[in-house]
Amino acid sequence: MSSTNFSSLPLKKALLENIDSIGYQDMTPIQAQSLPAILQNKDIIAQGKTGSGKTVAFGLGLLNKLDVKRFCIQSLVLCPTRELADQVAKEIRKLARTIHNIKVLTLCGGLPMGPQIGSLLHGAHIIVGTPGRIEDHLKKNRLDLSNVNLLVLDEADRMLEMGFQPSLDTVLEHIPANRQTLLFSATFPDQIQEIAKKITHDPVMAKVEASH
Ligand code: ADP
Ligand code: MG
Repeated sequence: MSSTNFSSLPLKKALLENIDSIGYQDMTPIQAQSLPAILQNKDIIAQGKTGSGKTVAFGLGLLNKLDVKRFCIQSLVLCPTRELADQVAKEIRKLARTIHNIKVLTLCGGLPMGPQIGSLLHGAHIIVGTPGRIEDHLKKNRLDLSNVNLLVLDEADRMLEMGFQPSLDTVLEHIPANRQTLLFSATFPDQIQEIAKKITHDPVMAKVEASH
């Protein structure tokens, strides 16, 4: 069996050093199943409960792919709730602390527009947000997603349960088709399977039963 140690992965040196200083050594099962493929630019469909290590998996994937010298939005992470988006942004910032001048911006509903519009004018590399609010900004031409090369759907089943399908469709129209797509969901009802089939290309499947 291949090693499940993070040091076995082809990650940028700054990321490996930071993982080491955070204290992560061995990958969780979902990370071991998905990260090697994510780092090969493959699409992923992954099933795993909260706490299984999904955020670290896609966070490392998007940070490794990112070119910090290109100041444009390169990754988009969609989450069902503001709480979750805040958690994800926090984890990404933690994983990114050895990468200088990286900008992670959250765009969530239920918050005033003004500050978000201001932040968008300053730009970002990574956007983490809820589909409805991102759709709002797109419709007002305040958000350019034409350079996105990695899309993450986190807790896709909850996003659909919350009625975000139309917003998701709008967002997908604004992202290049040749992007990498990582879809995470705790459950896989028919609706999720359909979407997964539609938005991923030749995906690698990852599944873990128990949480980490
Ligand atoms: P999920 O997104 O599936 O809920 P997270 O990626 O947020 O899971 O990870 C859950 C918790 O486990 C976090 O506190 C995170 O810091 C920690 N964690 C994630 N991956 C590892 C790892 N490989 N080794 C040790 N701790 C980890
Ligand atoms: Mg999570």
